[in-house]
Amino acid sequence: MKRILIIGAGGQLGSELTLSLREKLGPDNVLASDIRPLSGPLLAGPTTILDATDARALNSLVESYEIGQIYHLAAVLSAKGEASPRFAWDLNMVSLLNVLEAGKAYGLKIYWPSSIAVFGPDTPRTNTPQTTVMNPNTVYGISKLAGERWCEYYHTKYDVDVRSLRYPGLIGYKSKPGGGTTDYAVDIFWKALQGEAFECFLREDCMLPMMYMEDAVKGTIDLMHAPEESVKVRTSYNLAAMSFTPGELYEAIKTVFPDFDIQYRPDFRQEIADSWPDSIDDSAARQDWGWLPKYDLQSMTQDILVHLKEQEALTT
Ligand code: NAD
Repeated sequence: MKRILIIGAGGQLGSELTLSLREKLGPDNVLASDIRPLSGPLLAGPTTILDATDARALNSLVESYEIGQIYHLAAVLSAKGEASPRFAWDLNMVSLLNVLEAGKAYGLKIYWPSSIAVFGPDTPRTNTPQTTVMNPNTVYGISKLAGERWCEYYHTKYDVDVRSLRYPGLIGYKSKPGGGTTDYAVDIFWKALQGEAFECFLREDCMLPMMYMEDAVKGTIDLMHAPEESVKVRTSYNLAAMSFTPGELYEAIKTVFPDFDIQYRPDFRQEIADSWPDSIDDSAARQDWGWLPKYDLQSMTQDILVHLKEQEALTT
């Protein structure tokens, strides 16, 4: 069996996806790479340093490790991207084109995530359709929309088997988020557990589409294992699980931590959030390859708090 290469394995999604793929396929079959040294449970299988903007280094890794699939997760996310727009564009586009070129040259299967950031203020906000007006107004969203077009282009012109999902905000408890607009929904759990008040950078009533990391990892692996003919969207699939506001998440956490306190201090990220949908129509993913999320707000909150409490008990 040819190996899988994960690029950006040290990030919020990569660290969980790598462990799930290793559990499924065996640790030696999944090579974890990142621009920074990896640590913790990721060291239980093969790891390497890779700068995804370096095409030569990428190709040499594909050859020497006999890679058959790439999960390309390295990117600058929405909030960080607005601080360094040109850097974000260069990293997001150059790395994707390197991976697509490697896919074409070596016949690789590729996974690359897009985001609800491809939508903009002109997009219908509620139950946003798979195909609709886009017009993103962040550099992150522009790079993801251009990336989706490149994925479809490489599939149509060069028959590269590239697959993609438009994730909503991803919420996990195992690693810290990397600079997105939905990061509040991860940070809030740590504050609740530490018994501290939480300062939220979005408005109390700001509704956004979200997903528990376990569902995101399962959806990603399911899409990559779906028969080729059932993957009909080669830009990127809408994907949804739940939508909630900071106020609703706070109330869900308060059922476990009744004294938990929150203050709302919206910053520049509110403007980004205001340009995104509040809910997503993911019927194409459900029909084509059987997507079905498991977690809603209540079950996700319970699961995260149980695991964080266990982690805390182990470290104290
Ligand atoms: P993250 O910022 O947590 O992780 C990105 C990883 O890429 C980091 O470990 C970083 O060191 C690495 N990296 C940065 N530059 C690199 C380079 N030049 N070469 C190799 N590695 C490099 O991001 P994440 O939250 O894990 O997101 C993963 C993917 O999912 C991204 O494409 C992101 O756009 C997408 N996505 C994430 C979310 C979310 O809520 N986290 C939502 C929608 C889409």
